[in-house]
Amino acid sequence: MKVVICGAGIAGLTLAWHLERAGWEVELVERAAAFRDGGYMIDFYGPGHQVAGRMGLLPRLLRDRYPVDELSYVDRHGRQTSHLKLTAGLEDVISLLRGDLARAIADTVRAPIRYGATIESADQHPDGVTVRLSDGTTREADLLVGADGARSRVRELAFGPVTPRYLGHQVTASIITDPELSRRVGTRYQMLTTPGLMAGAYALRDDRLALLFLRRDPSPVLPADPGLRRHFGDLGWILPEALERVPHSGEIYHDLVTQVELERWHHGRIVLLGDACQAVSLFAGHGASMAMAAAWVLADELTAPGDHADAFARYQARMAPVIGEVQRFGRRFIQWMAPSHRWRILARDLVFRLAALPGGSRLFVNSLSPGGHNLIRPHHV
Ligand SMILES: Cc1cc2nc3c(=O)[nH]c(=O)nc-3n(C[C@H](O)[C@H](O)[C@H](O)COP(=O)(O)OP(=O)(O)OC[C@H]3O[C@@H](n4cnc5c(N)ncnc54)[C@H](O)[C@@H]3O)c2cc1C
Repeated sequence: MKVVICGAGIAGLTLAWHLERAGWEVELVERAAAFRDGGYMIDFYGPGHQVAGRMGLLPRLLRDRYPVDELSYVDRHGRQTSHLKLTAGLEDVISLLRGDLARAIADTVRAPIRYGATIESADQHPDGVTVRLSDGTTREADLLVGADGARSRVRELAFGPVTPRYLGHQVTASIITDPELSRRVGTRYQMLTTPGLMAGAYALRDDRLALLFLRRDPSPVLPADPGLRRHFGDLGWILPEALERVPHSGEIYHDLVTQVELERWHHGRIVLLGDACQAVSLFAGHGASMAMAAAWVLADELTAPGDHADAFARYQARMAPVIGEVQRFGRRFIQWMAPSHRWRILARDLVFRLAALPGGSRLFVNSLSPGGHNLIRPHHV
């Protein structure tokens, strides 16, 4: 069997890993000109962690992880208003850069990756699908997988335009180098919130600092410039200095926060995977984990006896209910991560203080694990 996977991100690479080991011929097509390093910090746990274990990736991920020993909220003077020491119950949470997770998977994938290209068209016929790439070349494949993120091109080809559910926020992420700021922030995840705005920072190796900005905005139209200095420049803490170092908009991650909800995840010989059909958003904090879980489930179904149509239907039936649960969790979490009113900020600080009581951090972390615990059980052995 030959499969073309559009998108060499977390989901596409994980699927490639599984299918090539099942003897499939796999080729990946990736829009970026080269492998994308860095990105933003993610917490990686739950079903994706189980998949990573099966793939033998855990020693590498544990090497690349960052120790986050505290979550703390600060005011404009950098004074702590509440904090939570992260000790018990966190053994399975791996905090690392999205790029480091993707790199760890990519290093174990043998399939060729065609960088700097996307899918121009996909024509299905009874024996397969003819895929035309933007570089003018074509491929004959049995199946085409769209693992090309929340703004999926393959999804558009299969289903026409789809408008993801906008969660009312824009997100911007950047990694800067500044030894002094990196030392000041350290291995605590520090955050500052004012109604409608959230800025977070965490120190990385080599004097770097990962920055995350969330801004409430009712408009679902992404402006070309995130306007960080305008919106966050007067909030105090480390922000005036940090913003000086943030590069211009072309070099940072900037997007609307969305969830993707679709009736059908497949159409003939085309199937969607990861954020393309199931984006849960950063509020759910589970997207990379769910993308790996979905790739594993899809590979499990495709390598079982039967045809691709049945496999696609079983894959969606196994994944969609869990994704719905995680998406609902994500929507409930918005008010905790980016409170819209001052009283919500005070309530959040109170919950943090309660969670700081003995045993509280385990309860807190368990409450952040919305579902999918039984996904990684083979249906076909
Ligand atoms: C700020 C932020 C914080 C997050 N925090 C967490 C967290 O704590 N825990 C967690 O588990 N998840 C988190 N996530 C979510 C997680 O990063 C995504 O859900 C996950 O990466 C989805 O995997 P994917 O493979 O579907 O998409 P991606 O990893 O985004 O990969 C998609 C790939 O497709 C490529 N592509 C896009 N369009 C095309 C095209 N037209 N043609 C060819 N290639 C294309 C892209 O370049 C990319 O390489 C966070 C996301 C953000 C933005």
